[in-house]
Amino acid sequence: MAQLEHEDASNTMASDCSVALVTGANKGIGLEVARQLGEMGWLVLVCARDPQRGIAATDMLKAQGIQARFEQLDITDDSSIDAAALRIAADPARLDVLINNAGVLFEGDFPRPGLPQDTFPSKPSVTSRAIVRSTYAANVFGAIAMTNAMLPLMRRSKAARIVNVSSKLASLSLADDFCQGNSNERYFNLLAYNSSKAALNAATLQYAIELRNTTIKVNAVDPGHCATDINGHIGDRPPSEAAKVIVRLATLPHDGPTGAFIGETGRRAW
Ligand code: NAP
Repeated sequence: MAQLEHEDASNTMASDCSVALVTGANKGIGLEVARQLGEMGWLVLVCARDPQRGIAATDMLKAQGIQARFEQLDITDDSSIDAAALRIAADPARLDVLINNAGVLFEGDFPRPGLPQDTFPSKPSVTSRAIVRSTYAANVFGAIAMTNAMLPLMRRSKAARIVNVSSKLASLSLADDFCQGNSNERYFNLLAYNSSKAALNAATLQYAIELRNTTIKVNAVDPGHCATDINGHIGDRPPSEAAKVIVRLATLPHDGPTGAFIGETGRRAW
């Protein structure tokens, strides 16, 4: 990707419409973000690690009149990330929005019909190194690798936006409130997931600091609890609702925030 950094940006504006890349776009919140950006007339790069699932989602979006292109992309695999970056560098030759949406949650048995509520969540003291490692591989290292690979393409945009899909559970303030007994909110004490999203929030700030004198904005988003595969569909809202706040951050005006952690109702405490 190094050669991309030295090219003349004025020669590389290939696509007239805005271009967004969404990781984990084959289902859940990512698919809805792809759909909503596509409905705005954007070209959406529908990324999925599994070609069958990714092509099915892309075909469904295309059938709805959306400009969608499938990209095979496993965020834990550098060669897959680099190959996607090279394809995008060739066409459409820039990126306006990167949505680091793909994420995993391996801990706990979710309350499902037939399972008692107290089987969820598993405790930090019994969470294995393997679970922590595989959670960080996607939620932290995956988002960082994607950002570094795509930034040269984003520098070719007039005003690029990076949205890191975090979680309310990333909030250290929320965890502190719960620990001190100051919160009656439902809290899932997930060692690997919560700390990985807190690390993603920290990385968001580090990128925002590096890019603060550019037109590129970097924010973390809490999409809110919604019913998807990641939580055994226990959320109370459809993923299309959660997608709205992500789309809002993807389309921020030039005076919008950068280095912020934002939820449906505004800024969240880190
Ligand atoms: P989901 O339906 O399980 O979707 C997760 C997506 O990530 C899937 O497309 C999955 O692909 C993809 N993915 C996982 N590992 C990947 C990898 N190594 N490479 C590429 N793609 C990978 O869950 P979701 O709720 O839509 O989650 C989307 C994001 O929202 C996640 O970051 C999650 O942490 C966050 N979030 C969700 C909620 C909620 O209530 N649902 C709340 C807060 C935050 P496969 O289909 O191949 O597995």
